[in-house]
Amino acid sequence: MEENETYGEIRQEIRKLCRRFPGDYWREFDRERRYPTEFVQALTEAGWLAALIPEAYGGSGLPLSAAAAILEEVQRNGCNGAAAHAQMYVMGTLLRHGSDEQKQAYLPRIASGELRLQAFGVTEPGSGTDTTSIKTFARRDGDAYVVTGQKLWTSRAEHSDLMLLLARTTPRDEVAKRTDGLSVFLVDMAAALGHGLTVKPIRTMMNHSTTEVFFDDLRIPAANLIGEEGKGFRYILSGMNAERILIAAECVGDAKWFITKATAYAGERAVFGRPIGQNQGVQFPIAKAYAAMRAAELMVGEAARLFEGGYDCGAEANMAKLLAADAAWEAANVCLQTHGGFGFAEDFDIERKFRETRLYQVAPISTNMILSYLAEHVLGLPRSY
Ligand SMILES: Cc1cc2nc3c(=O)[nH]c(=O)nc-3n(C[C@H](O)[C@H](O)[C@H](O)COP(=O)(O)OP(=O)(O)OC[C@H]3O[C@@H](n4cnc5c(N)ncnc54)[C@H](O)[C@@H]3O)c2cc1C
Repeated sequence: MEENETYGEIRQEIRKLCRRFPGDYWREFDRERRYPTEFVQALTEAGWLAALIPEAYGGSGLPLSAAAAILEEVQRNGCNGAAAHAQMYVMGTLLRHGSDEQKQAYLPRIASGELRLQAFGVTEPGSGTDTTSIKTFARRDGDAYVVTGQKLWTSRAEHSDLMLLLARTTPRDEVAKRTDGLSVFLVDMAAALGHGLTVKPIRTMMNHSTTEVFFDDLRIPAANLIGEEGKGFRYILSGMNAERILIAAECVGDAKWFITKATAYAGERAVFGRPIGQNQGVQFPIAKAYAAMRAAELMVGEAARLFEGGYDCGAEANMAKLLAADAAWEAANVCLQTHGGFGFAEDFDIERKFRETRLYQVAPISTNMILSYLAEHVLGLPRSY
């Protein structure tokens, strides 16, 4: 699977780093739903999480395709980038729409790892897919905003120094377009905790450190507003293509991990006196998963190429995410099936990766929403909502 790959040296370094965090490390943390701090620390210290931050702010200024290679390789080597992937892309909103003062104040410290910006508060109990119906409200009060409301599924909120928060600043029935009147803020977590901010962990089927977050008259300095008040939805949207491409790359990495495992096992496990991989009933699903993975990988590359060239890549970023999430899920299923009963045993790591990769059918955007985007925005079919 290596002949088609770019960024060989970066991949080699990531592989080396991942070897320090083998299956039993992830299994233990998964069992206890503990955050893999040492792994994230290692990625941070090596500078990988600052790949997309420009050199002027202390990052390495690498293109998106390099960041995609980093995350793909993390997944492919059995680790889980979900613990830290947002550190790569959440800062894009600050980079593109923040003031010079904000960028100078935060980006170098994010690049060095001193500040973790990996919590992204958008989804609420009453609005996941329908983002513009969020209820969390930020009311201007002198030189501050006062925030009330609740976020749901705010991942890594307990392991982040800053949170990027989307809140309404004008009620939905007072704006011309429902996408207006939303604003983006940087929340200093340490200053906010206990002063109007409460974070409660949610235990999920995989180890994801996700939470619900409550805002009870939390005061945020007005200086922490990013860009212009009321334009937040556009700022968030502008970061979504990068997020989708990077998560698609993670799914490609997952698919490679599953396919490698399935192939090796099919070649060595003997039943009825011959390797199970000699049966076409076992071979073909693995071969099909491989083809799906390669197609997804090509689409991730195409989306990244357009992104880096400054072209509109909305359709390709969405298709990359859809194809890659599907390819990872197909490969996960095939890998489990190939392993028979052993696929269910914790020690093989398959059931853990199986649970982890299932998320990407739903988050950060569900499969249906991508299909709806393609049907309506690319093919011009009538709008369904
Ligand atoms: C582990 C985890 C981590 C997450 N991390 C974050 C995070 O860090 N920050 C954050 O803001 N959010 C996060 N999310 C939230 C995630 O982005 C949402 O769960 C996702 O966008 C779907 O929203 P929802 O759960 O409200 O589903 P809903 O919007 O309630 O939708 C439920 C189902 O109905 C389908 N559906 C809805 N409307 C339509 C329609 N018109 N046509 C066809 N199908 C439709 C959806 O596709 C979905 O399958 C996370 C979620 C999980 C589970």
